[in-house]
Parts: sequence; structure tokens; C-alpha cells
Amino acid sequence: MPDKPWVAFYWCASCGGCEEAVVDIGEKILEVVQAVNIGFWPVAMDFKREDVEKKPEGFFVASFINGGVRTSEQEDMVKLLRRKSKLIFAFGSCSHLGGIPGLANLYSRNEILNYVYKESPSTDNSQNIFPLTSFEDNGYALHLPEFYDRVYSLDQVIPVDYYIPGCAPPPDIVTGALEALIEGNLPEKGSVLSPNKALCSTCPLNETKPEKLLIRQLKRPHEVQADPDKCFLTQGLLCMGPATRTGCGERCIKAGMPCRGCFGPLDNVLDQGLSMLSALASILDFSPEELSKLEETLEACPDPAGTLYRFSLPASIVKEKRRK
Ligand code: SF4
Ligand code: SF4
Repeated sequence: MPDKPWVAFYWCASCGGCEEAVVDIGEKILEVVQAVNIGFWPVAMDFKREDVEKKPEGFFVASFINGGVRTSEQEDMVKLLRRKSKLIFAFGSCSHLGGIPGLANLYSRNEILNYVYKESPSTDNSQNIFPLTSFEDNGYALHLPEFYDRVYSLDQVIPVDYYIPGCAPPPDIVTGALEALIEGNLPEKGSVLSPNKALCSTCPLNETKPEKLLIRQLKRPHEVQADPDKCFLTQGLLCMGPATRTGCGERCIKAGMPCRGCFGPLDNVLDQGLSMLSALASILDFSPEELSKLEETLEACPDPAGTLYRFSLPASIVKEKRRK
């Protein structure tokens, strides 16, 4: 069907959940394949790199790329898809902001390889064998991609036209993006395809928040029986709602869990973690004389980086652990 536009799907450093999110749109996928041809989708169809290389520049009307960029192969593929595509959509948190795999930026490449190939309790590597980028034996050579020193969000490697947020993006957000593409209704380039409002503004529990919210205790979800009908932050549970873009349908809140921040920050917020830290600073009710009590309270958040930057470390101001 040569008259239909072509699209591509590709995955980089991701868990595969975003691929599931494409099929999660259910029967709507039939409407999508009626409107477009899929010309590259390695996880589902047997396309090779050469199939993309042979296409003229700008052949694909859009490429949907999930996952952050961690290896030379991923960098090479996204640069190739950028050349061959009119539009690039960063699909899901990892591509949008670096995502959970981006928390590996708290460690160096060598620390990660040492742990995985040497130090982990289940590893026996007495010969100190570590991955190589090339290996030759008996006249044959094998080349493997280079594992980079950090994870990059997609727009740190190639220009991105649109962002589909979420871990993984929910079906209505994916369908909305595909329909906007097919109908030619896309917003301004650079847009994140969900409303530019904080999750708290659409959260059904917002009305249970007191006008002046102040807390003196932080608790972890497994330590308490949370009241599912009362704002989690009011209960001392660290909910990322104040610093997170809405559009997810408040899925975690409705399931009785505080928001973890997967939709990322609002427009013009440079750093989601700092935005949440600032929200916390304004509600933690301690006087300057009570610093030791505040420190005690903060111990209830044993992994601040993993909590405040669970999805966004590579795209934050800090980006990675500073090395000496
Ligand atoms: S802090 Fe969380 S639970 Fe409270 S209103 Fe905001 S999103 Fe809802
Ligand atoms: S509530 Fe937060 S973590 Fe859960 S889906 Fe929505 S944005 Fe993502």
C-alpha cells in the first residue's frame, strides 16, 4: 500500500514495557495499521538495519523511539532514524527523561561492569573476563556495541519533535498521539503530549488537602496502612504529584499508591527532583532550632536520588554522579 505513510518503532535502553504499551491500545491498532504502514519494528517484525538504510531521507513520517541511549549501537540507530524520519517521537519516560535505567548514572561504567561481571554474589569470574567491543578467533571477528559511561535521554543525542510521557505511556495518551499524527493535528514541535498541569490539579484526592499543608513526618508506603481517600502527602507519604505533569489518569493514586513521577516535570521546569524538593521544603514544618528532628524525618527517605529522580536523572541539571 504505497500511498499510506510509513512509521517506525525502535527500542533502546528500556525494559520492553513501552513495546507492550503500543499493543495495549488494543483494537485501535487496527485503525492505525489502516492509516499507516509499519516499516521498521524489530521487536515485532523481522526488519534489519539495512532495511532502514535503503530508505530515502525523511522516508518515515514518524519514528517512535523508546528507551534511553546507553550504547554505540543505540546512538547509531537513533541517528539513522533521525535522518530517515520527518518526525521523531520520544516514547515513554526513558526516552523522554532517561527513565529508571538512567539511575545507573549514579555509578560509573566501570563500577557497573565490575559489579555485574565480578562482584555480584552469584557471579563466578575467576578469569576476569569482561565484555569486549571486538574479539577475533580462528579468522573470525565479532564486534559488539560499546557500553557508554552514562545513559542519555533521546534529545541529548538527536533532535526530538514530540514527547509521549509515562512509564509506560497509557493507551489513551498513545492513541491520542497516533490520531494527532494521522489527522495532522499535532501541536507545536517540542511539546510533551499531555496537559501542562501538575498531577495534583487533576487528582481526586486534592480536595482532601488542607489549605495550608504542613507535615512533620515522612513515611514509606510499606510502613503504614494508607487511607486511599486522603491525599498521600497529607499523610506523610512522599507523593510526586506536585512536581509531575498530569495526563496519566491518576493511575497510581486510584490504585492506592503515591505518584512516583513518571510523567516528568511541567514545561519550563528544568529539574523535576529540585521542583519536588522545593515543594517538600515548603511543607516540612520544622523551625531552625529543630534541625536534628528534620534530619531524622528525612531518614525516612533512604534513597533521595532514586525517589526524587526516579525517572529523570539523565535529564536533570546534575545528570549523573560527579566523579573525582
Ligand atoms: S500530593 Fe499526591 S495524593 Fe495529594 S493531591 Fe497531589 S497527586 Fe493527589
Ligand atoms: S500517578 Fe505518577 S507515577 Fe503513576 S502513572 Fe501517574 S504520573 Fe506515573
